[in-house]
This record gives sequence, C-alpha cells and structure tokens, in this order.
Amino acid sequence: MGIEETMCNLKGKVAIVTGGAKGMGAAHSRLIAQRGAAVIIADVDPVGEKLADELNSAGADARYVHLDVTKEEQWLAVVDGAVRSHGKVDILVNNAGVVVLKPIHECTAEEFDFVFNVNIKGVFLGCKAILPAMKAAGGGSIINISSASGLKAVMQDLALYTASKGAVRLFSKALALEYTAYGIRVNSVFPGLIETSLNAEFLADPALRKTMLGNTMIDRPGRCDEVAEVVAFLASQGASYMTGAEVAVDGGWTAN
Ligand code: NAD
Repeated sequence: MGIEETMCNLKGKVAIVTGGAKGMGAAHSRLIAQRGAAVIIADVDPVGEKLADELNSAGADARYVHLDVTKEEQWLAVVDGAVRSHGKVDILVNNAGVVVLKPIHECTAEEFDFVFNVNIKGVFLGCKAILPAMKAAGGGSIINISSASGLKAVMQDLALYTASKGAVRLFSKALALEYTAYGIRVNSVFPGLIETSLNAEFLADPALRKTMLGNTMIDRPGRCDEVAEVVAFLASQGASYMTGAEVAVDGGWTAN
C-alpha cells in the first residue's frame, strides 16, 4: 500500500508553511506537497518562487507568497488569498524562526524584539489569522515549530532564542485547550540540531559542533527530511488523536 492510501495522505488539503522557502521549511513544503496537499510557501525570501516551480513541475499545486510573519496585515492578506483561491486552509506550519547567539549581557533590546517578533509574535499572528478560517471549515491542524531549546537550556549564548521557543511550547498547549473543541488540533515540534543555513556557520567549527551536539544519543545532526516526516504526520488524519502534544525530533538530545 502506498502512502497515498494511508491516513497520512494529505490529498485535498491546503497548507501554509511559513519560512517555507529554505531549510527545514522547504522540506516541510516539499513533503506536504508530495503527500497531496496544495502548498502555499510563505516567506520573506523570494527563493521560494524556485521551490514552487520545482514542486509544480513535479505535479504539485504550490505557490510562493511574500509573508513577513511579524506583520499582521500581511498575514490577513495571505490567509484571505488562500481562502479565495482554494476555499479553505487545513494546515498551518509556523516554521519561520531566527536566532541570536550571544551572552545575554551583550544582547540589545533590538535583538530581543527581533527574536521574539519572529519566533513567538509571528506564531501568535499566524494562529490568530488562521483560526477563523479553520473554525468556519470545521477544523484544521496547526503545527508550531519550537526547538530542543524550547524544552531545556541546551547550550550557552542562546537565552533569547530559548525563551522565545519556550513560549511557543506553552502557547501551543494553551491554543490546543481553547480550539480542539472546534476540530482544530494544535501540536508543537522540537527539532534538535538539524543542519540548515541557520546553524551552518556554527556547525563548520568542529569545537562548536561538538558542543552543540552535546549529549545527543544519535551522534550526528539531524536532517530536514527527518523533521518533515513528523510535521507531515501531525498534519494528517494519522494524528487524529494528537493535540497539545510536544514531539521532540532531536536524536535524544533533550531526553537526558
Ligand atoms: P533557516 O534559516 O534555514 O530557514 C528559516 C526560514 O525562515 C528562511 O527561509 C527565512 O527566510 C524565513 N524567515 C525568517 N524570518 C522570517 C519572517 N519574518 N517572515 C517569514 N519568513 C521568515 O532555518 P531552519 O534551521 O530551517 O529553521 C526552521 C525552524 O526550525 C525555525 O523556527 C528554527 O528556530 C527551528 N529550529 C531549527 C533548528 C536547527 O538546528 N536548524 C533546531 C531547532 C529548531
């Protein structure tokens, strides 16, 4: 039996993936499209156009839209556009994220705003914009991407990021408590060290790479597709009894 016959298929679904142009977001966009959903790749980087072209030439229904997740009016336009073109939005993956790696006494108030605006205000604005459409459609699946750093302090110089990702964790649970009654499942995903442009610079330094891997039980960084599998599953009917859950995809990093 192929995946298209299982409860994990996403045929007929419509998904928005923020930060969907690159890194893990591109892997989520790609796999959700392969599982049969129409995908709106929402990002500030127009390289998302290329990904949409690639997916469309493989038979998908993909579109790039410019979205700065920190701007409420852009969120409203993206959701409105999706509902006009596809009639509904079933899946929202709040994946866009940024990091500042510095000891806290060197962080500026501007850096605080930068990290919190993208990592948690962006998630709030996305959920706020999508919930009326999901309620009207009778349900949906929201997947918020936190981080191993949202579960514990995994390394130094990451306090702003850690606090913002911790907020994503409990915001997701609180949202699940409020909206599961409307058929809207809300779950969060906690990737460990995954190789992307976000950390390429740090991983290139062997000493830092060793520190970053820490006590990870599977002794390597993860791949984007390994996180995408979990995201696509949470989006699907296969996860119909999951809401308010937190799923670590971190090679055991946070388990010890
Ligand atoms: P990445 O830098 O490769 O990709 C992030 C994407 O978000 C980019 O396409 C970027 O253009 C987009 N983006 C940034 N600011 C935006 C904004 N204001 N509006 C819309 N899009 C914006 O990063 P990644 O490693 O793929 O990370 C994806 C998510 O996973 C982030 O939330 C990150 O915090 C989280 N995460 C990453 C790791 C890791 O090891 N890479 C680990 C845990 C969690």
